Amino acid sequence: MLTQAPRGTKDVLPAESYRWQYVEAKMRKAAAEAGYREARTPVFEHTELFLRGVGDTTDIVQKEMYTFKDKGDRSITLKPEGTAGAVRLLLEHNLYADTLPCKLYYLNAPIFRYEAPQSGRLREHHQFGVECFGAADATVDAELILLAYRLLSGLGVSNLSVNINSIGCPKCRPAYHARLKGFLAGKVENLCADCRNRFERNPLRVLDCKVPACQAEVKDAPSMLDCLCDECRAHFDKLQACLKVSGIPYAIDSRIVRGLDYYTKTVFELITKTPQGNLTVCGGGRYDNLVEQLGGDPLPAVGFGMGIERVLMLLDGEGIELPKPNVYDVFVTWMGEHEMKAFALVEQLRAAGLRADMDHTGRSLKAQFKYANKMQAAVTATIGDEEAANGAVKLKNMATREEKTVPTEEAAAAVRAMTGEE
Ligand code: ATP
Ligand code: MG
Repeated sequence: MLTQAPRGTKDVLPAESYRWQYVEAKMRKAAAEAGYREARTPVFEHTELFLRGVGDTTDIVQKEMYTFKDKGDRSITLKPEGTAGAVRLLLEHNLYADTLPCKLYYLNAPIFRYEAPQSGRLREHHQFGVECFGAADATVDAELILLAYRLLSGLGVSNLSVNINSIGCPKCRPAYHARLKGFLAGKVENLCADCRNRFERNPLRVLDCKVPACQAEVKDAPSMLDCLCDECRAHFDKLQACLKVSGIPYAIDSRIVRGLDYYTKTVFELITKTPQGNLTVCGGGRYDNLVEQLGGDPLPAVGFGMGIERVLMLLDGEGIELPKPNVYDVFVTWMGEHEMKAFALVEQLRAAGLRADMDHTGRSLKAQFKYANKMQAAVTATIGDEEAANGAVKLKNMATREEKTVPTEEAAAAVRAMTGEE
């Protein structure tokens, strides 16, 4: 128990954190390329924010939230998604009154959902999320889909499909709800318990159920796309025009409705096929009514969330290797009584901005070299009797075996010259 992390959580080990850092750097770059700036919100928020923001008919609110009372008897919830917190930030800091649109992203945001842990499904996962507030135009919906697509294909993911849909707006959706309910009315008996409940409260979500029996029942369900009002239709057409102009492949899937209640118009998913079935790496959409629902003036918005663990899983699955940095530029080895000289040299090299280290465990010189090799140090810097007597150090390029003895004070520059690093 003590040495076992809670179910559904995952450690990132020192030897694999470079993969996270690599992917995170690409995410930051992709966001910056489109004018999005980072925002950070707390790990927990008032429970009320998610009850109102995410919607009380969703799986998240009904079954998945980590909610507790703090010592001041306030109901607190660990973030089960990123958007509600972003809207709260926008409202609290009056960002809607600044120049719009307000474009923000969050990276590595821990997300907590009490789900049944399985491949690709954790109880704590991390998201890269991007949100744009204050722009109603479909060009932004397209920009976000393209951002996610470019990011993932830039990482080398090849097996990627972009699926889009429109779920309309409060003007046209009620008529569709009625049609869908009519269609489902004779089938309620065959639906899962959750969907029998959804049938009453939010029939759209039956379309999105993962239970095979429910999927079979909705196969021929009427499509929201046949019921869109003129405004939603024009918006959806423009989104497609943008995607066509940019030349990315996409498909319309009228069964995407997304798990959260706040969406309007565009919804989309980026999906890859895995041996265990389809995996959604990225999901998002437009939520033009959420800001108002959370107490602000009406403000259109659109965004997506991308699971970082799923991105890494995908890269793994496709056998994509990310560049692995070595740990040290230079490893200082020493003989005899020259430990203090070695220690001073390590600190001198670090102060010069190099990644440097020495043995701290009393290894023999031979074992020091072995360790340097194992840690893939680019260069070793050795202080033996002769070097110590001359105020010098012997450098060796571990890849080329090239050797060079230089005065100690020139060590950093010489290491840089040797590794070709500026
Ligand atoms: P799914 O359909 O797989 O349950 P979702 O619709 O619940 O996903 P979102 O709420 O849209 O997912 O979250 C955005 C992204 O976060 C997902 O596309 C996925 O990459 C990731 N994600 C969601 N839930 C989990 C989880 N339990 N474990 C790991 N990643 C997750
Ligand atoms: Mg889910």
